[in-house]
Amino acid sequence: MTDGTAEKHDGFIEFGDFGGLIENFSGELLVQQEPDASSFPSGGLRNTFEARGYTAWDISSPAFLVGTTLCIPTVFVSYTGQALDYKTPLLKALSLIDKAAVEVCRYFDRNVNKVIATLGWEQEYFLIDSALYHARPDLILTDRTLMGHQSSKDQQLDDHYFSSIPERVKAFMQDFENEAYKLGIPIKTRHNEVAPNQFECAPIYEEVNLSNDHNQMTMDIMKRVAMKHNFRVLLHEKPFAGINGSGKHSNWSLITDTGVNLLSPGKNPKRNLLFLTFLVNVIKSVYENQDLLRASILTASNSHRLGANEAPPTIMSVFLGSFLTNTLDEIAEKVTGKKMNPDLKTELKLGIGKIPEILLDNTDRNRTSPFAFTGNRFEFRAVGSSANCAAAMIALNTSVADQLLQFRSETDSLINKGIKKDEAIFQVLKSYIISSEKIRFEGDSYSDSWKKEAADRGLTNITGVPESLKHYLTGKAGEVLLRNGIFDENELKGRVEVEFEKFTKKIQIEARVLGDLAINHIVPTAIQYQNTLLENVRGLQKVYSKEEFVELAEARKELIREISDHISQIKKKVHDMIEARKKANRIQDIQEKAFAYDKEVKPYLENIRRHIDKLELTIDNEIWPLPKYRELLFTR
Ligand code: ADP
Ligand code: MG
Repeated sequence: MTDGTAEKHDGFIEFGDFGGLIENFSGELLVQQEPDASSFPSGGLRNTFEARGYTAWDISSPAFLVGTTLCIPTVFVSYTGQALDYKTPLLKALSLIDKAAVEVCRYFDRNVNKVIATLGWEQEYFLIDSALYHARPDLILTDRTLMGHQSSKDQQLDDHYFSSIPERVKAFMQDFENEAYKLGIPIKTRHNEVAPNQFECAPIYEEVNLSNDHNQMTMDIMKRVAMKHNFRVLLHEKPFAGINGSGKHSNWSLITDTGVNLLSPGKNPKRNLLFLTFLVNVIKSVYENQDLLRASILTASNSHRLGANEAPPTIMSVFLGSFLTNTLDEIAEKVTGKKMNPDLKTELKLGIGKIPEILLDNTDRNRTSPFAFTGNRFEFRAVGSSANCAAAMIALNTSVADQLLQFRSETDSLINKGIKKDEAIFQVLKSYIISSEKIRFEGDSYSDSWKKEAADRGLTNITGVPESLKHYLTGKAGEVLLRNGIFDENELKGRVEVEFEKFTKKIQIEARVLGDLAINHIVPTAIQYQNTLLENVRGLQKVYSKEEFVELAEARKELIREISDHISQIKKKVHDMIEARKKANRIQDIQEKAFAYDKEVKPYLENIRRHIDKLELTIDNEIWPLPKYRELLFTR
């Protein structure tokens, strides 16, 4: 629940009969272990004095070797059996969607016995030269720059996106991909991303749990290998203000054990009705579970990215492309709810029979949508680059499963009333198409007009992390998780508590780091430069006549005043920020404290930074204490 992976190593040594050490390896050791691990966040699920936690072998993800170490993927649960990790609830959600999807598939094919959810993540990241990184305490401590004026050139020319990969970067990529292959991680693509020094890699998709393990390992490998090439990897969603941030687009689909991708159309009407059934259920589930999906991806770091520079907004919507939009609208129009006559049946069948088998080339790409259909899968684009995808995958798979279960029960009850199967399916689909219409959006999600329209449609738009997290505990978002047994009430409460605390602590650390840098790096530098200017003015006064001096010194005096103003403002605001923090720290309730940090402390970060960034433009480059954006972003 730290978002990263964790490991504990055990030797197989024991004392032998004659006092020496022997290595003894029994299968039992693999199945279950009892690491203390009391310092992990548990949200009150486990007190330090009863710190027992158990790891148990997750046999659905293959064991692997790192050098001579055998690694066993495990779940991590408390003594009382409650989940302390992301893997346990993820496995529950995957098993749930398996069952729910099989039930629905059986309307079409009795031979389906298992449905597997698939995930292909696209990992975006920045690479920064190690030496420059080490000269930026904010990067070291918070993974992002808390200050820094925009570089004169950044991504205006779009000349980094897909351009040729710099040599040192390519060497790094090849190196880490080789390390990944050794662990069975099928990395397939690499390219330059939009922002300078921003890159992306993606594997071939795999079953969700395995793919997620592989993403966790990839992030880890990247960090280690980068150091060998004198780089640092930044996985933060928004390391630099004013340019693109990093996401982890999560491509998702469902595949049957008979080899059918349920989100890909086929050759005949029956196959396409199966496809439409799943498509419509996914759309409906996103509509019904907007707040859950958002809560699963909106974190302190991702909140800087969402809605800023070319990143999806905090409004959930689904993009389908014009072809499917028309197909769904047609079904909604033609199916009447009355008994279908044979002509209409034929017409509908002909209509859906026309869905091209390969939609891939027929779907428009909409890069602005947070949740886009891309021909044979959905792409959840709002997931953050540093995130554990499991959070999003738990939310998505549970939502869709919940929806499929409901679909099955509604359709069954129509069938029980004597309505033919196909007709019943069409009727329920029609009602879903209509009731979830508002979540479909084909336009530019980055635009301000969409914000307004979404509000008119009644879609929710929540930008604050604590506000968004609250949905886990109140209302529909939490209910769907509890109802389906993904968490019990205590687990959910504990987990959300961890999230609130994580948010608070991240803002707290950023505020401290910024305060320190402002007061002991920036202000002294500003004063030093100001003294140089004062010296200069005094010199001018000595050399020139009074009239000449007044004219000559005007601009310099203005500059001195400007610097003074910024210094005073920085000092005052840092002081106020510390007071706001003290006040927030006195709040006992974890939720309220997070709200206080969000509303009362966080705004200072931007506020203080503005003055520092102005000073950066004014002060002698020679004495500026931190590497600037142009160096960080253009050193390769
Ligand atoms: P793009 O940038 O065009 O979206 P990429 O090649 O960067 O494409 O990434 C696409 C990702 O989607 C890859 O990881 C790919 O394996 C994955 N993908 C393809 N088909 C599926 C599927 N059916 N289910 C899940 N992921 C898929
Ligand atoms: Mg891509």
